[in-house]
Amino acid sequence: MRYLITGGAGFVGSHLAEELLRRSHEVYVIDDLSTGTINNIRHLKTHDRFHYVVDTCSNRMLMAELVDEVDIIFHLAAAVGVKLIVESPVRTIETNIKLTEIVLDAANKKKKPVFVASTSECYGKSDQIPFNEEGDLVLGPSSKGRWSYACSKLIDEFLAIAYFREKKLPTVVGRLFNTVGPRQTGQYGMVVPTFVRQALRGEPLTVYGDGQQSRCFTHVADVVRALIGLMDTPAAYGQVVNIGNTEEITILELARRVIEMTRSSSDIVFVPYEKAYEPGFEDMPRRVPDLSKVRNLIGWQPTIGLEQILRDVIDYCRRG
Ligand code: UDP
Repeated sequence: MRYLITGGAGFVGSHLAEELLRRSHEVYVIDDLSTGTINNIRHLKTHDRFHYVVDTCSNRMLMAELVDEVDIIFHLAAAVGVKLIVESPVRTIETNIKLTEIVLDAANKKKKPVFVASTSECYGKSDQIPFNEEGDLVLGPSSKGRWSYACSKLIDEFLAIAYFREKKLPTVVGRLFNTVGPRQTGQYGMVVPTFVRQALRGEPLTVYGDGQQSRCFTHVADVVRALIGLMDTPAAYGQVVNIGNTEEITILELARRVIEMTRSSSDIVFVPYEKAYEPGFEDMPRRVPDLSKVRNLIGWQPTIGLEQILRDVIDYCRRG
């Protein structure tokens, strides 16, 4: 099969490209290198089934050509990371909405199936743990910039579902829960690479708030298996599907675990949210996925636990 990955030089996209090549497929990547980097795909560049173009998906003519070349599209190009969202709201909102509209429009002309990457951020402040795809989404006010990310991704979700229902375009929406692993950068705020780098440098680990908020981290290798499996499954078309792990840890405990595993002499410092992000910043206290839908659809479940995830990220950061 021939696959197009938008955002293919990003963290998740580059792992997906690698896995598809490993399974003997042909891979096309488009990435504008805004948050992705050539370093993520350098090792793939000489592969004869790998093709890449540095450009933006907003180039409609190019997108039409790329869509023509392939059988299936993974749309991963997006502005991600809470820090980026708070610092560059215009870019986040525009990137996330415009690009998805262009990709779906181009795919629809040739009726090529599209995976649209969404996020657990969409559940917002819901306390209906574990989060089920049919559960209500509870977002804060538009005066608080963080929620623009969830809103922009929700528009993407509605659009993907609308294309499926109205235009019979096969689409699948995946809500990713805190995906981590090698190549993720801490530059845009993500907590695991940030803590690991801080610990390896002997700098204090910056725990935001009181550290009692919790997350479930999913290894990128598990995530890419789910993405490929969903696009291979017509029953998944038109569906929104959680992709995550249910092993929950508080951020304070995560900091302690990273210090222990790196044998670091670092301390932990508590940073108020308003200093870390912006005044009035709202965090979500817990975020746990209900995985019954993805299990029923493709028999998928995560196989890599937090211990191994942290070991992989630590090894990667030590090498870099
Ligand atoms: N966080 C933290 N210190 C950091 C970066 C993040 O305590 O240096 C916290 C953040 O406030 C959130 C959690 O770690 O509660 C996960 O943050 P991340 O940005 O990785 O993902 P999010 O779950 O917010 O999308």
